Amino acid sequence: MRMRIARAAIAALAVAVILPFSVFAALGKVWLTPGAPVQAKKFSAEFFGTFDTVVSFTAFTKDEAEFEKYLEVVRDEMTRLHRLFDIYNDYEGIVNIKSVNEAAGMAPLKVPPEVLDLLETAKEAYADTGGAVNVALGPALSVWHGYRERALANSANARVPSYAELSSASGHMSLDDMEIDRENSTVRLRYPDMRLDVGAIAKGFAVQRAVERVKEAGLKSGIVNAGGNVAVVGLPLDGREAWSIGVQAPDDGTGSRVIDVLSLTDGAAVTSGNYQRYFIVGDTRYHHIIDPDTLYPAKGIKAVTVLHPDSTRADVLSTAAFILPYAEARDMIAKHGAEAVWLLEDGRLEMTEGYRRLSRAGRSAGMRGK
Ligand code: ADP
Ligand code: MG
Repeated sequence: MRMRIARAAIAALAVAVILPFSVFAALGKVWLTPGAPVQAKKFSAEFFGTFDTVVSFTAFTKDEAEFEKYLEVVRDEMTRLHRLFDIYNDYEGIVNIKSVNEAAGMAPLKVPPEVLDLLETAKEAYADTGGAVNVALGPALSVWHGYRERALANSANARVPSYAELSSASGHMSLDDMEIDRENSTVRLRYPDMRLDVGAIAKGFAVQRAVERVKEAGLKSGIVNAGGNVAVVGLPLDGREAWSIGVQAPDDGTGSRVIDVLSLTDGAAVTSGNYQRYFIVGDTRYHHIIDPDTLYPAKGIKAVTVLHPDSTRADVLSTAAFILPYAEARDMIAKHGAEAVWLLEDGRLEMTEGYRRLSRAGRSAGMRGK
């Protein structure tokens, strides 16, 4: 795994949420407890190799050794969960989601507690989103994955799968056919043609667990960004009242343009967008978030960012809010006590009241009397 500690710039990342705050380790006097001045320095690092994305970690700590201790906790937890949630690779001695897929139609498989927790989350997500977020779409997602890889390897090979191919590959895709036995720690996919793809929820879940671990280890002030899944701990210890999170515009050929800046303390911001993974055929962009009703990429929204105290929930809701019609998505966001901003296909920006209060774009629109 490659890793780099950078006190300087956080590299311009091809992710939906970037962190545009100051680029050098800040040295500042901070009052952690009344009467006790503490020197806190800002450190940043990033590493690759988990969840198909770069993970960046920033924290205010007393020195570099303390920062490295926390970095290791984050990296270890992300690595451990990556292996458990992997659908493509085997790891010696590890029963993971790939193992669950391979045991489809067979006897119940005993799995580690984190796999059980993730799959329970998946069941809840399926119920909460009316089936929009469905990890049992594995076979159709794998057809799309193959077409995307071939198109990206050589654009002359860019093709769109037919509905017949997608639906015949799909087979059983009701998550009700995934049997979880908490008592015995087992999972069983009832039919041999069932396959799970946990891409819509695994990263948010992993970031949530990593943040919990690093808080237990003592972190008071930091931020983890795993390719658009951002989770924030405490306040930045440089006197500001919140972290500034830049929301990146969908890539329209102009590079990474920040369309909004959010002020966040504790909690998560997760983005789903049509510009993260895609291929192009003719004039059409075929992105990676699939509407279970059509088996084709969801339409109508360019990007949505969801704020919620829990990163797992924010990840579920951002994928769902991308797929569901805007009015339905808005109700779902309200019901779960989340906040969100949508960039609709026609360029309109829609936001919830809570988002507006935290957002620079929202506040300035408010000042203009909108
Ligand atoms: P990202 O992983 O790019 O941050 P998302 O959280 O929105 O974005 O998840 C997208 C991934 O989820 C896809 O790459 C695919 O693996 C999977 N996926 C796509 N559509 C669905 C769906 N309707 N239900 C469940 N998983 C999906
Ligand atoms: Mg998601």
